[in-house]
Amino acid sequence: MQNVNLCAQTPVLDEIRNVAEGWINEIDLFALHSVENGVGGPFGAALYLYNSATKAHEMIGEMMGNAVLSTGCGSAHAEDRTLNSSHIEILKDRLAQLAPQKYQLYIVMVSSAESCPACHSKEQIVARDLISCGLLDEGHFIVVYGATYQDTAEVAGFHDAPYFEDIQKDIGDGLIKVRHLDVADSPVDIRQALTQSDLADRADQDFCVIVQNGHILSCGHDNLSSYAPFASASYLTIQSACCTQKDQGASQPWNLRGAVLYTTQSDIGPLTYTECQWTNISAIIQIKNTGHSSSTEARGITNQTLFKIVGTPDYSHPNSAVYMMKLGNFANLAQHGWKNRLEQIGDSILYNGIDAA
Ligand SMILES: [Zn+2]
Repeated sequence: MQNVNLCAQTPVLDEIRNVAEGWINEIDLFALHSVENGVGGPFGAALYLYNSATKAHEMIGEMMGNAVLSTGCGSAHAEDRTLNSSHIEILKDRLAQLAPQKYQLYIVMVSSAESCPACHSKEQIVARDLISCGLLDEGHFIVVYGATYQDTAEVAGFHDAPYFEDIQKDIGDGLIKVRHLDVADSPVDIRQALTQSDLADRADQDFCVIVQNGHILSCGHDNLSSYAPFASASYLTIQSACCTQKDQGASQPWNLRGAVLYTTQSDIGPLTYTECQWTNISAIIQIKNTGHSSSTEARGITNQTLFKIVGTPDYSHPNSAVYMMKLGNFANLAQHGWKNRLEQIGDSILYNGIDAA
């Protein structure tokens, strides 16, 4: 990733900020509607394609809201759902159609709140994929948001900042324990799961197993594709574990209650780590010498580098593929609606992933 001269882009970025201030109010109302219908937390997002020469814009797909409550998945955040495979397919098709105007085109993710590190990881992965495919110029993936981490904590009671602080630490020094284990020393059921994992056909894919209280909750491979650039083994296996708990009638299916994630990923990336944060996974165990080869979470950079990019306090530093901007005017109706709803129903329990206190 080359350094992008953002100073040269300043007029365009100001323009995008101005138009996004109009879009975000609609997204905020959409998020408020989601809260009132019990779908999820008070967050919404949408993806736009903006042409800086013609000033034309179009929404890619539809607005999406947080769906943690309805899906049971701890990271079913608005940005995650906005970057779903059907939206990525529409986006890639449009960018391919408009290829002659590529240098004028910007992807603008508008989110009602500052992205958590899990969503930021996904934004980086998608941006780098689009740039690597030659569909988007560097510096042209913009995220604009309304509420900061501090606003969200004060109004709605969700605490993202401790997770962001956590990923600034060295791997292994954070909230989630990370250690290595040779496959020969791993528990027998993990070895069996690996043996049954079509290893011969899928040795180029990572494999994960989630164990809770000595029982396997879920296991599986990557299912990465052109339209699903972050469908990694860890992401899918964690989602599957949450769905299993939901099917079993758990009141908080997104809380995996200190489960352990075994993975063949050779270098833990921020996507794996932050998905574990949101689902209360207490440890990540990297299984060595399994015969699997491991892919990186984002194209063209190591997982360690991506970890540093997502954990850097100045989001829009030169190595970042995503430029982030805070919007000046934001009513934050959805978060106030959430606060009022909790007060009305007398519910003060807010689940926020692994305990960062
Ligand atoms: Zn998020």
